[in-house]
Amino acid sequence: ESNQEINDDSTIQICVRKRPLNEKEKSLKTFDIITTKTGQYPNSQLYLHEPKTSVSMSKTIENHEFYFDHVYDEYSTNKMIYLDIAKPLVENFFDGGKVTFFAYGQTGSGKTHTIFGPSGGKLSNEVKDSTSDNYDKGIYEYACKDVFKKIEEKFEDNTDTQYLLSLCFFEIYGGKVYDLFNKRNKVSMLEDKNGDMQILGLKEIPVESYDDLQKLLILGSQVRTTGSTEANPDSSRSHAIFQMTLYTYPKGNTDSKYSDPTFLLQQQQHVGIGGSTNNDFGLNIHGRFLLIDLAGSERGEDTGNISRQARIEGAEINKSLLALKECIRALHMARKSDNVNHVPFRGSKLTQILRDSLVGKNCKSVMVATISPSSKSCDHSLNTLRYANRIKSY
Ligand code: ADP
Ligand code: MG
Repeated sequence: ESNQEINDDSTIQICVRKRPLNEKEKSLKTFDIITTKTGQYPNSQLYLHEPKTSVSMSKTIENHEFYFDHVYDEYSTNKMIYLDIAKPLVENFFDGGKVTFFAYGQTGSGKTHTIFGPSGGKLSNEVKDSTSDNYDKGIYEYACKDVFKKIEEKFEDNTDTQYLLSLCFFEIYGGKVYDLFNKRNKVSMLEDKNGDMQILGLKEIPVESYDDLQKLLILGSQVRTTGSTEANPDSSRSHAIFQMTLYTYPKGNTDSKYSDPTFLLQQQQHVGIGGSTNNDFGLNIHGRFLLIDLAGSERGEDTGNISRQARIEGAEINKSLLALKECIRALHMARKSDNVNHVPFRGSKLTQILRDSLVGKNCKSVMVATISPSSKSCDHSLNTLRYANRIKSY
């Protein structure tokens, strides 16, 4: 563990985004219970005004006050969020960092909207207008376009080092990993001798342009959301992980296929999610960028009259979101004692996969907790805000 650097205070940022009331919430006569002072800590604040009915049946309100690194209101756009908090991740990625952008929150609160855009990464009529500058794209689109811009810049710099980008897209459901680039095949995850995770048989696809990347993302998103049976859970019950890996390789000067990085990558037998910084072919893992659309946080709270299957799923989701919280909290403590050995990454598949993105050199994470403003969602929003509040570093 000696070569691991502990995060400094700024490496895990916790932000909150309130979405607008939707038509259904308006028609149900629910009301907005969230007020905000937008901006950056310590000037940003968020209040949840909890409606209560006392024993004497009088209506009261309890105000809950929160501070986060950034607070975004219903007028915020994905582009604003990208520029503030996700674009710096792209910089770290090129500096050889392992970076993560999470969306956490109740189903319907805007996680997928934030990461994958209003169309959720799927093809729809909307996508026809999606090339227009007025269309608020997902964080992934702004990020990936900047990644390709940087790869081209580096190429034009004409240095000896070249960059290659590859993608994986997978889902964690019920504690198991499914490949969204390969018909949702189940893949196995094993720990290597360094404690890093390897996912055997996960499809890793090299990409050379943003258009290629977008096509793959749309394909994977369709796989994620088609059907919703036990074998194909709806997206609120799984964590989706879109992974970009940046490789460097020395500029080749022969025509041999062994100097073609795309060919070399295809020869790899499996993908190391953690360690394995080198492989036998001269490709070096330089940086890693994870975009994570977490399972609906309310799924872990469900205790009511639900099916056995739903209860088991809920317990699994609860376990992983709890493990994530414990790891982030333990990392803040570990920073003080300079020791990450006691961070409970083994608590879930999710945290095992995240391990080296949370403790490695140059690593940086941003979590956006998304909330509905509706009085109907008061309890879930309060839970989300409390969760986010617990994992702040201050
Ligand atoms: P989740 O992924 O958390 O379940 P979605 O991202 O699918 O939720 O959002 C639910 C619905 O609300 C979608 O139709 C989405 O486009 C809309 N929505 C979410 N956030 C916003 C926002 N900030 N502005 C406008 N519409 C939003
Ligand atoms: Mg979603």
